[in-house]
Amino acid sequence: MADVRHMRRILRQLPMDRLASSSRELVARALRDGVDDDLGRVARLAFDELIAAGDLVRVAVEGGARRNRGLWLVQGTSKLIDAAGLPDRGDEASGESAPDAVAPEPPRVVGAPRELDVGDMLDAMERAQDLAVGDPRADDPWVMVGRILGLLEHYLPDMSLHAQLNVVVGEPRSCGRLLPQPDLDGMPFWLRHRRGGQSLWVPDPLELPRELRHRLEMARLAEPVTAVVPIMSPLEAEGEIGLLYVSAGSTWAAADLLPLARRLSAFVSRRWRCQHDVNQRVLTDSLTGIPNRAFFDTQFPLELERVRRGEQPLTLVIGDLDHFKTVNDSFGHQCGDMVLRTVARQLQASLRRIDVVCRIGGEEFAFILPSTSWQEARDVLARMTAHPFRVALPPEVGVGMLNVTMSYGVVTFPDAGTSTGELHRKADSLLYRAKELGRRLCCIWTPDGIIDLRLPESSA
Ligand code: GH3
Ligand code: MG
Ligand code: MG
Repeated sequence: MADVRHMRRILRQLPMDRLASSSRELVARALRDGVDDDLGRVARLAFDELIAAGDLVRVAVEGGARRNRGLWLVQGTSKLIDAAGLPDRGDEASGESAPDAVAPEPPRVVGAPRELDVGDMLDAMERAQDLAVGDPRADDPWVMVGRILGLLEHYLPDMSLHAQLNVVVGEPRSCGRLLPQPDLDGMPFWLRHRRGGQSLWVPDPLELPRELRHRLEMARLAEPVTAVVPIMSPLEAEGEIGLLYVSAGSTWAAADLLPLARRLSAFVSRRWRCQHDVNQRVLTDSLTGIPNRAFFDTQFPLELERVRRGEQPLTLVIGDLDHFKTVNDSFGHQCGDMVLRTVARQLQASLRRIDVVCRIGGEEFAFILPSTSWQEARDVLARMTAHPFRVALPPEVGVGMLNVTMSYGVVTFPDAGTSTGELHRKADSLLYRAKELGRRLCCIWTPDGIIDLRLPESSA
């Protein structure tokens, strides 16, 4: 049954003056006292009449060439009517048929994708396998979507795949298969009025965003038709995060390309989800839930490269819990684990979103602080260590709150060193110095010598 309120809205939006007087009367009567099915049927009739007369122009069609969905423009105006939910002509209860003045649908021609041979198939599987496994950038939507589209496009040589992402995380890119967000001026009419979740059929390249049009010209696709479908986030709660544009030669019909585009988009999300899950497992420390050594080993060079390009400093801190062995020996290994979890949580909570804390050894942590000078790092550490870490041990242990401290070695790029190895080595030796000098100490490398920052013993 049609959505009553929506049918009423459609009926009210129709340009009444362009309807035949009998239809006008029908619409007026339906609006006054029409029952549910009646409203949908009358809306369908009036719609078909206007389409036949050229008073309604298709702007974009959802779900292929079917006329019961999509956006329609009232000819000669800028008024758009969303025909979602308009019943199919076959749905009509009364059997009264609509004027059949609309041209029949063009014959469907299916451009069969190239068939894969076994070698190609094995190739594809291998490519899919090593798609960014263990690469921390796999959580960057731009990187991930770009790579998956690259993989797919390799096996769809007659098609062109592009994505436009609407996300704030990661590093926005507009290269290769990723399109920039069009500004309002460059945004096609249909894109501005598209509802979330809607798929669209764009048979005319002139209606595509300018940048995509340009790229299709470069790809030499003759008169491409394009299916536009939503890309869903691999994390369910986030919903739609962009659009996938699947362009192919004009031999493709909407009824074939749209479902294929939806499958491709589902593949992107599924593949991305898989990668995300694998990465979570590979790069996360299972005890504390924070990034592990493997993450640090790949992320540190990436972060260093980024600040090098931006001519920014970066501070690396290596911290190690003091006398942790005593905690294990006195209260048991489980209490030791509890201390590690609490410390990891408190460290994470005290840093910025762009900072990274990793557990790189038993009771050893590394912090990567991008765009942070040694002076700024000193202030961060002074704040962070103003109190010892406080861990509530289980009542049966009988000590209540346990105060735990850490010692730190702190170095800053580029003054203290320019390679990951050199920085890590220097931070380690400063940490060693902090332990030698009695622990509860933060040793900071500065161009004028080492600063030893003594940390308070207890919060009391
Ligand atoms: P220092 O102040 O010199 O760092 O002394 P420390 O006792 O902290 O250092 P040491 O290297 O002597 O001991 C580290 C201890 O950390 C020994 C090891 O059993 C313990 N440890 C390492 N990983 C874990 C873990 O996952 N859980 C628990 N409970 N203990 C761990
Ligand atoms: Mg220790
Ligand atoms: Mg240690």
